[in-house]
Amino acid sequence: MATVKNWQLDRQMDYPYEEHRPKKQWAIVFDLNKCIGCQTCSLACKTTWTSGKGQEYMFWNNVETKPWGSYPLAWDVRVLEKLGYQHWDKNKPYSGKTVFEAADPAEKAVHFNPQDEDWMYPNRGEDDCTGNVSGGKYLTLPHDNWFFYLPRTCAHCTYPACLAACPRKAIYKREEDGIVLIDQSRCKGYQECVRACPYKKSMYNPYTRVSEKCVGCYPAVEEGKQPMCVQNCIGKIRIMGFINPPWNAREDNPVDYLVHKKELALPYYPQLGLEPNIYYVPPIHANREYLIQMFGPKVEEVIENYKKIKNDPITQGLLVLMGSTDNIIHRFKVSEGSAYAFDEKGDQIVRVPVTEPLFIRTPWDEKLGVIRNNTP
Ligand code: SF4
Ligand code: SF4
Ligand code: SF4
Repeated sequence: MATVKNWQLDRQMDYPYEEHRPKKQWAIVFDLNKCIGCQTCSLACKTTWTSGKGQEYMFWNNVETKPWGSYPLAWDVRVLEKLGYQHWDKNKPYSGKTVFEAADPAEKAVHFNPQDEDWMYPNRGEDDCTGNVSGGKYLTLPHDNWFFYLPRTCAHCTYPACLAACPRKAIYKREEDGIVLIDQSRCKGYQECVRACPYKKSMYNPYTRVSEKCVGCYPAVEEGKQPMCVQNCIGKIRIMGFINPPWNAREDNPVDYLVHKKELALPYYPQLGLEPNIYYVPPIHANREYLIQMFGPKVEEVIENYKKIKNDPITQGLLVLMGSTDNIIHRFKVSEGSAYAFDEKGDQIVRVPVTEPLFIRTPWDEKLGVIRNNTP
């Protein structure tokens, strides 16, 4: 085992390979306060990548309703139970064990092995809320019942468990963008990656008899475009870009800005130790204990930061850039009421008003001499 730096845990940890950070690291930020659970992202991925034989059950992108939804069945509950007690004091390094540190000597990572039936219910728990609904409580507002949608893709982790566990060295992380891929010609279908990935984002194809996973839409990324699940997001809750570690963060990089500069987004289940590269703006209405378990001890602070956006035109500008272009935004700026996005060469991709102009149409149109109303 090598000793590597995990900035999300604020400490060193054990990992089977030496630390190596790619030139650029693919990342997505999701604003969970805006996801409407429409599953357009799931279908955008499905129709692009997983409509072949043996892929029928696969959703490389899925959206689950938390706390009850999960695909495969109870994946996070089962991983967390195997990991055991995860101690993490606020503003201190994580003091529990990661999946690599808690593994038996014969294993690379603490894991569970999903069975066929675990993959059979991708919509389990969809739209189920938690809390007691009784005595007409559902008719009162505000109420205690809550749920939120959690869209998930592979996190193209800095320390992937799938890669660590592969005995064939068929899994690799690309130097140019940090995307984690399975070399289909080297894979022999042993499914060690399926067992080891705690997020359960490596999947076995029983027809081709090799494992597959989200490819980060690398052909689009190579062309400067965001992935299909991002481009097609109806709620405009996502932005894909390249994240730097905190010591190299750039203020004009949209992902660095949201994660490092403003501390509005957190990785999910960082205690597992993979340094996952999907980040979430936590939902402000959900149970805090649950959110702390999922996003770590900074949740409260991050939610408070989110509530301050109403007085922060720069962050407002960045949020309206989300979903405003198919291209990858490498740099952004906000000035005089407009938000600007730039590509890698520094050329402007898009400009959007931070606040949409409001036009009020009078019922009587002077020019045409007609009354306008909305009755057909
Ligand atoms: S999320 Fe899972 S499949 Fe994706 S890189 Fe991390 S360990 Fe591998
Ligand atoms: S990045 Fe591409 S391959 Fe991965 S989940 Fe999104 S659409 Fe699917
Ligand atoms: S398309 Fe966007 S809004 Fe719809 S479920 Fe996916 S992430 Fe949520």
